[in-house]
Amino acid sequence: MTSYDLIVIGGGSGGSACAKRAAGYGAKVLIVERGATRDAAGTRVGAGVGGTCVNVGCVPKKLMWMAAHQREQIVGSVATAAGNGFTVPASAGEFDWVGMKKRRDAYVTRLNGVYENGWKKLGIDVVMGLASFESGNSVRVARTDGTETVFEGKHILIACGGQPTTLDIPGKEHSITSDGFFDLETMPKKVAVVGAGYIAVEMAGILHGLGCEAHLVFRGETVFRRGFDPFIVETLMLELEAHGPELHKSSSPVEITVKDGKKSLVLAEGTDKTKTSIDGLDCVLMAIGRKPVTNLLALEKAGVKTNKGGFIEVDEYENTSTANVYAIGDATTTGYELTPVAIAAGRRLGDRLFGGEPKARINYETIATVVFSHPPIGAIGLTEPAAVEKYGADKIRSVTARFPSMMYAFNAGENKVLSGMKLVMLLPTERIVGLHCIGPQSDEMMQGFAVAIRMGATRRDFEASIAIHPTIGEEFVTFAGWGQSDGKPQLPPYLDASM
Ligand code: FAD
Ligand code: NAP
Repeated sequence: MTSYDLIVIGGGSGGSACAKRAAGYGAKVLIVERGATRDAAGTRVGAGVGGTCVNVGCVPKKLMWMAAHQREQIVGSVATAAGNGFTVPASAGEFDWVGMKKRRDAYVTRLNGVYENGWKKLGIDVVMGLASFESGNSVRVARTDGTETVFEGKHILIACGGQPTTLDIPGKEHSITSDGFFDLETMPKKVAVVGAGYIAVEMAGILHGLGCEAHLVFRGETVFRRGFDPFIVETLMLELEAHGPELHKSSSPVEITVKDGKKSLVLAEGTDKTKTSIDGLDCVLMAIGRKPVTNLLALEKAGVKTNKGGFIEVDEYENTSTANVYAIGDATTTGYELTPVAIAAGRRLGDRLFGGEPKARINYETIATVVFSHPPIGAIGLTEPAAVEKYGADKIRSVTARFPSMMYAFNAGENKVLSGMKLVMLLPTERIVGLHCIGPQSDEMMQGFAVAIRMGATRRDFEASIAIHPTIGEEFVTFAGWGQSDGKPQLPPYLDASM
């Protein structure tokens, strides 16, 4: 039986990162990746080389988001092109979906190659097939050609990620998920997107931005009922209502029917569950969360424990319940389903197992996130309600600002896009424990602020940083007047004799 220092199940964000780190330290590594496989019904069941992010996640999504954002600047209610002096012909908003998909697929294929070459250069062995446990230190691989091999590993990493879930309603077979979104060969004219999280908001926004008639269906009063600061959610709702897809609040899908090639999504709306429907749809897209694909791993043979949802239970060092078996990324109970989290966890694990850093681990407290909504959202740290719960209301102070940025200087009032910014501070030091923003370029603004927050920045540090003008980000360092946020001077350290 061929033996490895490390067997990695899943060649996605986390698995690839850990494998490369380990191989970089000289470990003998095997990656098992099931590839971009589909089931008999044609539904995608494996993400492929590079995982979800590269094939059916962050990368193709961001390409589509950028196209949608660009179109929004040219035509539509929030367009800025005409105001900035450009002549915009009626055809300017036409979007070549077919051509874009070709280029997007080619971009992804190129990235698949980059991953494969990266593995090859580091001497990592790769087997394409479905992995499952044979025991706590061996893995069986069923290759697509029907052959099977068992490999032995001193250490085994589970980085199998997840897959989209769907609603169990009559006619569900007529819906697609985010995976299916990336298969769409032509642009749907009318689409209903079901969900209230990252994917629903992002995809409904992309489709709307590209010129589809998009409907966003969610069961609550707002999207993002968890995890995001209420001020940001309120601002996003204002923007969605003013410039986004058509919203169907308090609505739960009950059925999908098909007639003459068009779909109808039947909804139960409001507390009295009034039946309504969205008709004439080309596409119904379910984006109601993802589940880990741990059910195929025969985890019981290795004694690896999961929670009720199938997520693998791990401690802060990514250890599972079985010695020498680890898990990272979307398939774990860490609560984060983000590419950089999976990558960082993988690298730290590689450092710990093979790099002589026994305490290497990821810090889950200061993880920034961006939602590619229209406009985008950036957040790091605690929301105000979470900070109040953790520290008590008397220990928390927050400041907010909401304004249309200069980017929309020449737009009519109702066609300006709002920016919203919020700092949540812990008293008495005013350490910033939460930083939240929404508005154009929030996505690019976040990374630098994330470093500052991780370093423990206080409001004084922010206000001691001279603004960059004119930018949207400068609001974070000039909130309520430089050094006067409390109505009395609170000067940066170098001006304050007491510090
Ligand atoms: P994955 O990347 O999913 O990799 C798992 C791999 O394991 C897959 O390639 C799969 O084929 C393989 N596999 C599974 N089971 C087996 C098995 N038994 N044997 C062999 N191979 C197996 N995150 C961000 O940070 N930013 C974004 O903008 C963003 N956008 C997203 C958009 C969408 C539409 C989606 C769906 C996700 C997005 N994410 C984003 C989340 C991000 O893609 C995931 O958090 C990340 O890919 C998780 O990495 P992972 O290594 O845990 O799993
Ligand atoms: P999600 O963000 O967890 O949101 C799922 C949403 O579906 C919830 O907000 C929930 O809303 C709704 N929902 C759940 N069950 C439902 C039901 N039975 N009926 C109707 N609505 C239901 O999941 P996701 O959007 O599928 O994304 C998965 C993960 O991928 C995300 O959590 C994120 O970590 C990652 N991702 C990240 C990015 C990024 O970084 N930009 C982009 C895409 C995805 P209510 O409970 O409020 O109704």
